[in-house]
Amino acid sequence: MRKSNITDPERFENDVELDRSLRPSRLQEFVGQQKIVENLKVFISAARQRSESLDHVLFTGPPGLGKTTLAFIVANEMNVGMKVTSGPALEKPGDLAGILTSLAHGEVLFIDEIHRVPVRIEEYLYSAMEEFRVDIIIDSGPGAKTIPLRLEPFTLVGATTRAGLLSAPLRSRFGITNRFDYYASTLLKQIVERSASLLDIEVTAEAADEIAKRSRGTPRIANRLLRRCRDFAQAEASLAHHKGVITRGVAQYSLKALEVDEYGLDEMDKRILQVILEKYDGGPVGLSTLAVAVGEEPGTIEEVYEPYLIQEGFLQRTPRGREATPLTYKHFGVERKAGKQEGLF
Ligand code: ADP
Repeated sequence: MRKSNITDPERFENDVELDRSLRPSRLQEFVGQQKIVENLKVFISAARQRSESLDHVLFTGPPGLGKTTLAFIVANEMNVGMKVTSGPALEKPGDLAGILTSLAHGEVLFIDEIHRVPVRIEEYLYSAMEEFRVDIIIDSGPGAKTIPLRLEPFTLVGATTRAGLLSAPLRSRFGITNRFDYYASTLLKQIVERSASLLDIEVTAEAADEIAKRSRGTPRIANRLLRRCRDFAQAEASLAHHKGVITRGVAQYSLKALEVDEYGLDEMDKRILQVILEKYDGGPVGLSTLAVAVGEEPGTIEEVYEPYLIQEGFLQRTPRGREATPLTYKHFGVERKAGKQEGLF
């Protein structure tokens, strides 16, 4: 299956380090997602006043928008520690029981990709979340015994890019649910400037703006592009014997060399749109047909790629399927065939 650059494991390795070093640690430093931040402030201060653990929190939304970052911030603001795991890492009920019993009073347990927690383990989460209890089963067959184990009160913070795959019973056990939106370029510009100062990179305001506009509404991509632009600035500087400043010219040149287009569309975005244009004559095409044509899961297309394409006006969801818009034709330089129905734009 083809991988797009938001999920490419090679890049992911570097991103993990970069993400870690650039993560804001306080609510005040967290740029954007205003509604989520405002609500969390209220819930956190109320829980602290009552000296209780915070209710369980679910963060949903596409990758790189700050779900993990905000989980760390929640723990920081509650002044408690955080243990981190992920859905695929929990293979046996014992894996989960081990982590749960190690949690100190009020601590945060962060489960990334929570939609990938296996079903038989998910059931243990229910009693843990509701009653701070896990039932450990000892032996098997007729002699099997269940021993209830009391847990310290804790806060589960779950994150998922695929909210649609979460079971209803699990979802209903979260008291606080927040969906992350893509960032406006003005906010991404602030993030680029903050990251530049932390990494000691000089970037002009115009260049930060240029990078922000081409970051697909995603802080992780903005940080990655900033770093790549720094490489180009450095290379140029060593030739010209001056300090490597990222100017608008350097940013434009670098982004062009990196094949980042003016909307920041990634490989899979382009593939989806091109398939609709070229193979299906602009659509409409059904989601499952489209998924087969691009080699990606229908749910991933729906929850990870489409929201941005729809937001930017490249794609429409209609009752008959997905359709390209006039902007898509224009962006890819494809002529609309005569007789094709005019879009809504
Ligand atoms: P997710 O968990 O949603 O995939 P992360 O929390 O790992 O995303 O965010 C990726 C990186 O983007 C973080 O390490 C951080 O550097 C940056 N980032 C995300 N959101 C923000 C924000 N609101 N303000 C500043 N930086 C952010």
